[in-house]
Amino acid sequence: MRFLPIFLDLHEGAVLLVGGGELVRAKLRLLISAGAQIRWFATDGNHDMRGLDGAGAARIELAVGDPLTADLGGVIAIFCANAGDVGVAMSARAKAAGVPVNVMDDVDHSTFIFPAIVDRGDVVVAVGTGGSSPVVARRLRERIEAMLPARIGDLAGFIGSFRKSINSRIAAMPLRRRFWERVIDGPIGALVLAGRGAEAEQALTGIADACAYADGAAEGRVTLVGAGPGDPDLLTVKALRALQDADVVFHDELVSPEILDRARRDAQRIPVGRRIGKPGIGQAAINRLLIEAAKSGQRAVRLKGGDAFVFGRGGEEVEALRQAGIAYSVVPGITAALGAAAQFEVPLTFRHEALRITFLTAHKAKDAEKVDWSALTDEKMTIVVYMGMTAAASVRAGLLAAGRSPQTPVGVFARATLPDAQAEIGTLNELPALVERVDRGPAILVIGDVVAHSAPWRRNLNLMLPELLEAAE
Ligand code: SAH
Repeated sequence: MRFLPIFLDLHEGAVLLVGGGELVRAKLRLLISAGAQIRWFATDGNHDMRGLDGAGAARIELAVGDPLTADLGGVIAIFCANAGDVGVAMSARAKAAGVPVNVMDDVDHSTFIFPAIVDRGDVVVAVGTGGSSPVVARRLRERIEAMLPARIGDLAGFIGSFRKSINSRIAAMPLRRRFWERVIDGPIGALVLAGRGAEAEQALTGIADACAYADGAAEGRVTLVGAGPGDPDLLTVKALRALQDADVVFHDELVSPEILDRARRDAQRIPVGRRIGKPGIGQAAINRLLIEAAKSGQRAVRLKGGDAFVFGRGGEEVEALRQAGIAYSVVPGITAALGAAAQFEVPLTFRHEALRITFLTAHKAKDAEKVDWSALTDEKMTIVVYMGMTAAASVRAGLLAAGRSPQTPVGVFARATLPDAQAEIGTLNELPALVERVDRGPAILVIGDVVAHSAPWRRNLNLMLPELLEAAE
């Protein structure tokens, strides 16, 4: 480590900025956001203030004269950007005067360097590479940005605002630490991170005995997480965070091993879903498991394919958790229809052509018979059928009987977003045959004119074009 990271309070004096051009304006914006008083010597004589208005601009003093002879009394630090020889001379002067100096992109003339910064209010992360590779630092910063909850700064601020009053109630240091750990890891922290600060405040001020709270068993909670259609890269940042935070993951069979791999290494993984031909443990038993896990203080994730609230029985689980008084939250996932639509380029809506979408499920022929097909005859409606493979013939019969054209384009999209994804396209009339051609589920049926915009449809047309032309000749 050549440079020690420290955080500088810029409220205590002025900083000197020497240089010109766009680089200097970027530095100005950064310094303003850190609350600095800035004395700016424009080496190119141009105090260009574009994009720097308001309160921030008021803190910039447009200095004239030679920075090399300027008064350094009360100056906290000196920054040189794009200042050429003046920067080098300024560096020598600063070093002689014992004032910290940074010359941009010039480690040799700098006594401090700028890290890449993640700025979340009270929480600031600085990444440095000793000046050797700003690009590496920036890449690292991007990763950290993605990892940190957006409201982590709020959480720090929240704790800051209660620290004095709580610390006065808990004398012993280790107990204090446990108290804050419980707040951060438990439902109160989760409320702050969810933007529900008022409720968090209520919960915290509602703790009657702070010492007992600190000493009590950890409070568990359940997070319902949508795992998306299969491709692990389609997990949301929030889903990933929940997985990495989990003590135990209750997952459906549909959730791939690649996605389960993203969970915390030592998290327990418990399959609870149905397997083809084998019944699952049942919804009531799943609800019980979730409640038990939370009650024993675990952070449980209920991981479901696609989205938990789209044919995922997430609603029932949430209801059970609510009734049991368990803290829970829901993280949305990309539902199969959207995964397939993106992969096969099926715009589910299209101006003038498809104005609404219906998601329905038809697991068995019996379910399909219960569907009111007459409500689905609008040509400008895209229909997506989940779990519809075995009921394909009934889906066709229902829609045809209701008057939808047998020529309506349909697509059967199997294992969407997975490496072995498959698309079979044709007309409504051909639907059962298309499903026959699918090697393996899961698959959705998409019915509507928009399927004619899809990539496989266009490919098919291109393949058929020579034949058609020949026939025409
Ligand atoms: N909650 C899930 C749906 C669960 S029902 C979601 O939002 O996607 C299970 C059905 O989803 C399957 O029968 C199939 O119709 C569909 N499905 C799930 N993953 C799929 C995938 N990768 N490709 C195509 N269909 C999929």
